[in-house]
Amino acid sequence: MNRTELKYRILTYGCQMNEYDSEVIASVLDNMGGAPVETDDEADIIILNTCCVRKTADNKVYGRLGQYKQLKDQKPDCMIIVAGCLAQKDKEGLAKKYPHIDLVLGTHNLRELPQLIEEIRGKGPVVRTDDQGAAFLSPSVRKGTTSAYIPISIGCDCFCTYCIVPYVRGRLQSRPVEEILIEAEKLAAQGFMEIFLLGQNVNSYGFDLPGQPRFWELLEKLDAIKGVSRIRFTSPHPKDFPPELVKAVAELPSVCECIHLPLQAGSNRVLKLMNRRYTREQYLDIIEDLRARIPGVALSTDLIVGFPGETEEDFEEGLEFIRKIEFDQAFMFAYSLRDGTAAEKMPGHLEQDVKMGRLYKLIDMQNDISRKLNIAQEGKTVECLVEAVSKKDPGKVTGRTRTNRVVNFAGSEDLIGKLVNVKLIKGFTWGLTGEMCI
Ligand code: SF4
Repeated sequence: MNRTELKYRILTYGCQMNEYDSEVIASVLDNMGGAPVETDDEADIIILNTCCVRKTADNKVYGRLGQYKQLKDQKPDCMIIVAGCLAQKDKEGLAKKYPHIDLVLGTHNLRELPQLIEEIRGKGPVVRTDDQGAAFLSPSVRKGTTSAYIPISIGCDCFCTYCIVPYVRGRLQSRPVEEILIEAEKLAAQGFMEIFLLGQNVNSYGFDLPGQPRFWELLEKLDAIKGVSRIRFTSPHPKDFPPELVKAVAELPSVCECIHLPLQAGSNRVLKLMNRRYTREQYLDIIEDLRARIPGVALSTDLIVGFPGETEEDFEEGLEFIRKIEFDQAFMFAYSLRDGTAAEKMPGHLEQDVKMGRLYKLIDMQNDISRKLNIAQEGKTVECLVEAVSKKDPGKVTGRTRTNRVVNFAGSEDLIGKLVNVKLIKGFTWGLTGEMCI
């Protein structure tokens, strides 16, 4: 292949970990003389970096792969690569169903990509999906200039009954502290104001490392790096959220006053069915501790409705609990069946219309809460990190408060990457508008 003509297009589905992996893939391809393009027509290589957490994510990729049959007929030299969690889950099944794919690349095989691109051309679908051995790779290409992801662990040992992650990302594998610090120092030197720590279960960090460094100890070390103004992390598990971690969030200046703590269900019976390993009372204790120690802390969560066996009473009990907590933001989903998980075989799977009815009711309630809490911010002056020019209005920029609220205000491109003070003017469900203080 003529390396100077290697044009690639990466389509990323799913979570932040996939966005990070796409940065790694882009870096690998750039090192091979590649350049990103925006359309399939221009591309020599198309990479679908896939997600399989919900069935809708699978279906999106299947639909696109079906369409690529025609593209491959027209452009037989165009290489089609399927990477990520769906590749790890479906393996040879993907290659059989879509023989026009060139490579199925599992989540543990990313580092093999450069040599595979050289070797597999014209060899039909090649499947490379090891069950372990993932490496932490640092991308040289970063999307954006203000905030950068650092994965601190991959995989998960929790086996929540609905979740496919432990099967496609493997068991918990923590990254050595030194490696993380080196990456953070490098990012700070490059001018990134914010680092975003990633892990499927971020606060279980270190259990598998020699000496078992704890997550809050890692936060202390990262906080000491000069130039890092903000540290965020996702997603922590409530079962590993001790007072030491609450204290670290409260006391370390760069750790943002904003915690995303997946609740998943507000009924103890459903939490047990989900194998979440905490009760709503234990969850509430963490929330109360956070609110007591960190004035103005913002809380967000993930919620699933319509889990197998969830009764109307369970749902209403959960709704009441969620109403009582008042999350600033929630990511809400109807349960999606994943083959191979424990929940697949559970009795009491609900009809789609029942699940969707509950989801809409939850969304309506949460939207009211988010709007109310954003309106309560009106009049305050807060620090915003400017991220981008507004997509809807080029005369405005979009920034984020330390509590992760999105704020739109008048400003220009040269503000991107800067911390500015903004007076919050009007709250909405999605965030706020504001005015920059000069
Ligand atoms: S803790 Fe998160 S990633 Fe791990 S099994 Fe549960 S839902 Fe999946």
